[in-house]
Amino acid sequence: MKQYALVVKQDEMSANIAEKIKKGLTGIMEYNPDDPDLVISVGGDGTMLLSVHQYMEQKVSFVGVHTGTLGFFTDYQKDEITELIAAIKADHYQMTPRHLLEVDVYHKAGKETYLALNEMRIDHGYTTQVIDVYIDDELLEVFRGNGLCVSTPSGSTAYNKSIGGAVIYPGNPLMQLTEVAAIQHNAYRSLGASLILDENKVIKLKGQHFNRVYLGIDHLSYHLDDVEKIEIRISKKVVKFIEYKEMSFIQRIRRAFISE
Ligand code: NAD
Repeated sequence: MKQYALVVKQDEMSANIAEKIKKGLTGIMEYNPDDPDLVISVGGDGTMLLSVHQYMEQKVSFVGVHTGTLGFFTDYQKDEITELIAAIKADHYQMTPRHLLEVDVYHKAGKETYLALNEMRIDHGYTTQVIDVYIDDELLEVFRGNGLCVSTPSGSTAYNKSIGGAVIYPGNPLMQLTEVAAIQHNAYRSLGASLILDENKVIKLKGQHFNRVYLGIDHLSYHLDDVEKIEIRISKKVVKFIEYKEMSFIQRIRRAFISE
């Protein structure tokens, strides 16, 4: 029998939905949070990000139930649990691989690596960031502004979209570099548009104030201390999302951003 885990948002409604799922899956799948085949996220997009970070190193697939307003990563609503159970039982689905970013942070003491499903961000609202931006080993620009965001196609509809980046149709291993409040005048100038790169490229950031900023990786944040360089590339790892029901990307963005 296949095994499943639940990652549940800390509220009463999500807890009740999780109980319903457990009851519904009795005899169909075994609950095993240590070694699941399927991870069911109950909450919102934030809960799905938590689920992915908790289980991304294991061979699992993800499916989401949304218990609040509409989510981007979550295919099922709170009143569709019977439908979800029936779909899991029928075991008929499409698997969608989602690309991750690999973010290598070089400290004086060594290197730390983070994986991101949505994006990595370097942000500071008060002090101008001065960041040398290289694509591979070629200097693109000396960026001055609040920060930079590098997002995956999955993350293109998240923070990236709010700062004016493009929405990327999923499926291809692409990453997008988007500026956060860049200074643009006759003394300082940067590209002023999002730059989309493929899996053969590496974005290298060298900053002059990295010890005063935060590195955002999806819902997580880290204080940057003594950082000399950050390298961002598309990871060879992917996370697998299960789609039991068909919903095109266009339907998904219509539902989330344009109309009900
Ligand atoms: P959170 O979990 O409260 O999420 C903030 C909003 O981003 C929610 O409405 C969520 O549904 C939406 N979201 C998350 N991933 C999405 C995606 N791939 N496509 C479309 N919408 C998405 O906030 P958090 O825990 O601080 O951060 C998690 C994520 O939220 C981050 O990865 C970031 O992309 C996003 N976020 C967006 C903004 C913004 O748009 N201004 C601000 C903060 C965080």
